[in-house]
Formats: sequence, C-alpha cells, structure tokens
Amino acid sequence: MDFTDTPAEAAFRAEARAWLASHAPAHELPAGIKIPDTEEADRGRAWMRELFDGGWAGLTFPKALGGRGLSGIEAVIFAEEESRYHLPKGPFTSIGTGMALPVIAKHGTDEQRARFIEATLKGDVTWCQLFSEPAAGSDLAALRTKAVRADDGSGDWIVNGQKVWSSWAHLTDWGILVVRTDPTVPKHKGLTFFVVDMKTPGIETRPIRQISGMSEFNETFLTDVRIPDANRIGAEGEGWACCMTVLMGERLGSGAHRSGVEPLVDYAAATPDGRGATMLDDRSIRLQLAEALADERGLNHFQARLRTMVSKGENPGALAGMVKLGYAGRQQRVLGLGMELRGLDALAADPADTFTPDLQYDYIYSTVMRIAGGADEVLRNQIAERVLGMPGEVRMDKDVPFEQLK
Ligand SMILES: Cc1cc2nc3c(=O)[nH]c(=O)nc-3n(C[C@H](O)[C@H](O)[C@H](O)COP(=O)(O)OP(=O)(O)OC[C@H]3O[C@@H](n4cnc5c(N)ncnc54)[C@H](O)[C@@H]3O)c2cc1C
Repeated sequence: MDFTDTPAEAAFRAEARAWLASHAPAHELPAGIKIPDTEEADRGRAWMRELFDGGWAGLTFPKALGGRGLSGIEAVIFAEEESRYHLPKGPFTSIGTGMALPVIAKHGTDEQRARFIEATLKGDVTWCQLFSEPAAGSDLAALRTKAVRADDGSGDWIVNGQKVWSSWAHLTDWGILVVRTDPTVPKHKGLTFFVVDMKTPGIETRPIRQISGMSEFNETFLTDVRIPDANRIGAEGEGWACCMTVLMGERLGSGAHRSGVEPLVDYAAATPDGRGATMLDDRSIRLQLAEALADERGLNHFQARLRTMVSKGENPGALAGMVKLGYAGRQQRVLGLGMELRGLDALAADPADTFTPDLQYDYIYSTVMRIAGGADEVLRNQIAERVLGMPGEVRMDKDVPFEQLK
C-alpha cells in the first residue's frame, strides 16, 4: 500500500500549506494560557470566516451549498496541515461543521440547507448539541424531553425537559435537539429531531463549573419552548436516524489529525539526558515513541479511509466508533508519555515554559474523550456486535412501547 500523496494531492497540500502559512499565525491561540470561553468563541468565529473567505470551509460540501465539492481525502490533507497551528478549532466550531451540517445536509429540506449551511461555514451561526439527559447518555434513546403539537393549530411544537453536558450551549446561536414525540412506540421509534434557536423563550442554560475552572458544559432546561414545524429535521418519528448521522460525524471527526507524538520526538531529541546523550538515545523511550507514532499513523490512515467512504456516499457504520475509540485511548497514552518525559517539570513548570501547561491541561482533559461522543465500553459493544458479528447485548426494552418501560 502506498501512503504518499498522489501528484494532485501533493499540489493540493502545497496550496493548503502556503495559504495557512500566510493566514493561520494571526489566529493562533496563545500557548500555555487558557483564554476566557467568550474570547475563544470570538476567535473561533473569526477563524471560520477566514477559512470561508479563503475558500477552505466545507471542503466536502457541494459548491451550491457554499462548500468546495472536494473528496474526503482532501479534507483530511487540509486537517493535517491545519493541525500544525494552535487554532481555535474546538467543539465551539466543530459541533456546527461536524455534526449540525451533516444532519441538515442529509435529512433537511432545501430551505433548511440554504438557511443554515453557508451561514455556519462562515461562522455567522454556531451550534450546540442537545442530546444527553440526566438519565440518557449511553442509552440516548431513553431520553424523556418531550414535544407535543401546540393546541392553537399553528403546527408548532411545545418542548419540555432537561438536557445536560451541552457543550458551549451558553454561547452558541442554535442547537440540534432530539426529543420524544410519541411515547406509545418503542424508544428508538418515537423520537423527532429539531434545530432550535437558543434565544427562544423558555431555554435556560446553566453552566457547569469544572475542576479546571472552565465552564464549557451546561445543564439546559427547556420549559414550554415553542419550535416551529419548519425547524423539524427529517420526518416526525425519525429522529433516531438523524442522531446516527450526527454521531457518525462526531466520531469520524475525533482526533482531527493533530500529531501528539511528533512534538514529543522533537522534545526528546533536543533534551540532554545528563550523560552526554539525549533522551531519544534511551532505548526504552525510543521504543515507546516509535510504538506511539506507528499507532498514530495507522489510526490516521484508517480515519482517512472512512472519511473517503463518507464523501463517496458510503456508510462506515460502527467502524466510525473505532476511530473515536482508538483516538481517545491513544491520546491519553501519548499525553501520559509526554508527562513522563517532562519528569518533575510536568508537575511544576517554570513560568516561562509555554509547552508544559498545555501538556498538563491536555493530559487531564484526555480522560473526557473516553466518555464524550460515546463511552469506550459502549463503542466496544457496537463494534463487537455490528463489525465482528458477536452476539448482541440483552436488550429487554427494545420492542416495548416507551410509556410502558419502568
Ligand atoms: C467532554 C464532554 C462533552 C460532552 N458534550 C456533550 C454535548 O455537547 N451534548 C450532549 O448532548 N452530550 C455531551 N456529552 C455527554 C456524553 O455524550 C455522555 O457523557 C456519554 O454519552 C455518556 O453518557 P453518561 O455520561 O450519561 O454516562 P452513562 O451512560 O451513565 O455511563 C456510565 C458508565 O457506564 C458505562 N455503560 C453504560 N452503558 C453500558 C453498556 N451497555 N455496556 C457497558 N458499559 C456501559 C459507560 O461506558 C460509562 O463508563 C459530553 C460529555 C463529555 C465528557
């Protein structure tokens, strides 16, 4: 197998690299400093606008919808080049491009596509994901937030319930929302999908304060929230299919090709070991770095293959979970290795050190990726059942009307 770029891909990479070199540095986040979330959000919007104006937004979306109509492999190449810079590319921007737009493009109406896709690619509209609930995370289809038709003949929906862990919901413009519209059918069948303007009366976001001092997530309460039927995505009762499209985008987007290992190799090569050689001359360190690099490269190629499948209209199904599962575990191991290489400095960094604070933060944060977007155990179940064809988990509630579940 040949993993090198074709001549056309190499030309695309060179074009992307040159454009990024002249536009990305001005948008880079300061190393080692966690800026306020409002500032990060503003910077995220500005970088999206720059990408759009430069013709680098929505690479795989059709040109008619504001994208460039390119293939998955070009999107991967751009992501690889972009990840050389420390840009505001967190969930604030990726929920829109990686989750809301795929579901609107696939299940929405022409009017919805025209309304949201270009505006999101430009950074004018940002998104949060209103899926998880206090009693519905891994078992998302158990969600209880409900919507009923308004009794005034308008066709509008009235939504009541609570979501949780809604990343950036306090700062974003719109939410993708899944709710129960029919409790008389089994749990996966009675769900309907909406987009909701986060300024609609009745939506209250309460930021959850994290141990890091940041507040990226929220509890989101919905009380008599009125949503026009024009904001329904897909048919009534077909919300689960929309959720699957969103989760596919979330899982395939994991990792975004930022190399965690290469900076460690550079660091080990540049750091004296106190005995006249460098850290990289230590056989054990070299072995761990080599294994981590091989692991990373393999996963990146696998991710590129699946993204190419999606851009050709194919469905990787549960294979997408392997990207997320592989990335989350790898990220934690690599950052742990980075902390070991830094030794005592990893615990108490010199104030002038701009490398270690990011490493510390990323190391601690890496645990959450084992849960966000589908916990490891749940992804393993799906891979076992749908990829390896192993016997399914016992699911007593699968065919029982939701309202009869205890
Ligand atoms: C950083 C982060 C950001 C997030 N952002 C969002 C967001 O923007 N929007 C949103 O809607 N949600 C968001 N979430 C929520 C996320 O989707 C859920 O946390 C996740 O789906 C797990 O659900 P839970 O927390 O309810 O855990 P549970 O479902 O209660 O799981 C608890 C434990 O039980 C295990 N478990 C559960 N079921 C099984 C099973 N069948 N077999 C084996 N083990 C099982 C799980 O693996 C896990 O270890 C975010 C979470 C994190 C960590």
